[in-house]
Amino acid sequence: MSDIAKVTVLGTGVLGSQIAYQTAYSGFDVVAYDISDEALEQAKKRFAQLAVTYKGQVKGAADGKADAALARVTFSSDLGAAAADADLVIEAIPEKLSLKQETYRELGTLAPQRTIFATNSSTLLPSDMMEATGRPDRFLALHFANHVWLNNTAEVMGTTHTDPAVYRTVAEFAAEIGMVPIELKKEKAGYVLNSLLVPFLAAAGELLIGGYADPETVDKTWRIGTGAPLGPFQIYDIVGLKTVYNISIEGDEQQQAFAKYLDENFIQKGKLGLATGEGFYKYPGPQ
Ligand code: NAD
Repeated sequence: MSDIAKVTVLGTGVLGSQIAYQTAYSGFDVVAYDISDEALEQAKKRFAQLAVTYKGQVKGAADGKADAALARVTFSSDLGAAAADADLVIEAIPEKLSLKQETYRELGTLAPQRTIFATNSSTLLPSDMMEATGRPDRFLALHFANHVWLNNTAEVMGTTHTDPAVYRTVAEFAAEIGMVPIELKKEKAGYVLNSLLVPFLAAAGELLIGGYADPETVDKTWRIGTGAPLGPFQIYDIVGLKTVYNISIEGDEQQQAFAKYLDENFIQKGKLGLATGEGFYKYPGPQ
């Protein structure tokens, strides 16, 4: 048992709402915090939609469990009140270092001494933020994947200052909310999953841009050759081509060429991947 009972989630966007809902679904009391009442109104809609999704996709959720989870979530736009009784605060606010540091500085003065802080940041390292928390020993990263109810990895990554007991507590908590804890022994940008996925996807983009093979051929090769269910271009469609563009345009020459290809062939035509019904493939499709 992790000793965690009360959890506060900062940010109720794509990931924050999923983390908060999954935590409540697992029986914990959750406070969902966001910057304004308008944002919290949006959050309520996200939570209601998540309950519908769980009923359709998670075994047993339709037997009252999905609705019971909604009743365990309370909402607040007051950071002090939201954190006042938290054993664990999970931060899922926008991926901007200065914003995160500012938020941790404030949170550090408002939350009880015992409270553990965990960041869900995908690209920043916890050591970039640890000073701002005022409690580096009680701070680490707990990184979820989109669609937490299906893709249930939770990467646990501390800094050299994280207390090992805190690390264990958070890894245990991750398991208690139905995640598979992925324990990193030290800090690594991209954790385990993106350290594998990002170069894999980039290599697929290079095969296309270099004129070596079309997306269908690349995907087919990967599926048949490895037994994996999806090829890289199918994954690109799921991630969303606008997101892929934003990442690729910051990369090297090859990646920038791929970003331009995406822009001209898809983004300008409103084809953003699975979410818009078309990207490299059409949805719903045979693949
Ligand atoms: P998002 O833009 O969907 O949501 C961010 C939320 O934070 C919004 O509700 C916004 O109102 C709120 N917010 C803004 N400023 C705030 C503040 N000062 N305090 C509290 N809340 C504030 O973003 P997201 O995609 O959910 O990403 C959030 C974090 O999760 C990022 O660090 C990102 O790297 C990480 N993450 C995202 C994904 C993903 O697939 N989207 C996956 C894993 C990790």
